[in-house]
Amino acid sequence: MKLSDFDAYRITKMQNIQLAKVHSDPWSDLPISKQEARKELSALHERLADLQQRFFVDRRKKLLFVLQGMDTSGKNGSIRHVFRGVNPQGVHVASFGKPSTRELSHDYLWRVHKRTPSKGEIMIFDRSHYEDVLSVRVNKLKPEAVWRKRYRHINDFEQLLSDEDTVIIKFFLHIDRDTQKQRLQERLNTPSKNWKFDESDLLARSKWADYVTAYEEVFSKTSTSHAPWYVIPANKKWARNLLVARIVVACLEDMQLSYPEVDYDPAEVVID
Ligand code: AMP
Ligand code: MG
Repeated sequence: MKLSDFDAYRITKMQNIQLAKVHSDPWSDLPISKQEARKELSALHERLADLQQRFFVDRRKKLLFVLQGMDTSGKNGSIRHVFRGVNPQGVHVASFGKPSTRELSHDYLWRVHKRTPSKGEIMIFDRSHYEDVLSVRVNKLKPEAVWRKRYRHINDFEQLLSDEDTVIIKFFLHIDRDTQKQRLQERLNTPSKNWKFDESDLLARSKWADYVTAYEEVFSKTSTSHAPWYVIPANKKWARNLLVARIVVACLEDMQLSYPEVDYDPAEVVID
């Protein structure tokens, strides 16, 4: 698997994507059943565990996966289902919620930069600096003159990370409004999911169209060759997990990772 196999999901800059025209259901080019997807996913878990081990030992690069999406799009679920079985020493998650007073007293990239991966580390961002041109824009937390400059900051920031050996892949988990309704309803109907329900999700839902506009601008301004966006059809959880897993594995396979050569002959070492 190579990353270029997934170009159909990658957004190229200046594409002026219209989200409403992009599938949130699995494409017909994913002609497999849920059952087959489960099997493939567990094979991918094994591949990923091995690749991650090599990535960790290799220590040449840093790897950053950014997850964005509307509420209930499955950011948590993707992390749980895709990264199952990897060594927790080398894979970390940073969740970015509403900034604290302390965070707000700094520039908006301050808290983000601190969580970027080090060599050999895989970092997953559950939300990210993109909220600073999404939530901030939609909820009018800052004037346009302030957030509009941020596309440039973000591109420069990601360029810096890339120049310093960070590989960046950004995922947008694409669900439609009906799917969100079902999932929010499920959170109300299922006692074990009640804790997930957050009234503020309803407010965000009422601003769906504004989020779509904000996301579309994010894609057209910040999908670069060194930090591309992939739009993942996410109405079906199994298809979403499979696609994210395939892309994550492909990204690591592209790195041609191998275990380092040793400067001794293991056969000559005698342990008494
Ligand atoms: P959750 O991902 O469900 O834990 O929700 C996190 C909440 O924090 C979401 O409503 C985000 O929109 C919000 N959030 C994250 N980052 C920011 C930010 N930089 N400014 C304002 N709100 C944010
Ligand atoms: Mg939430």
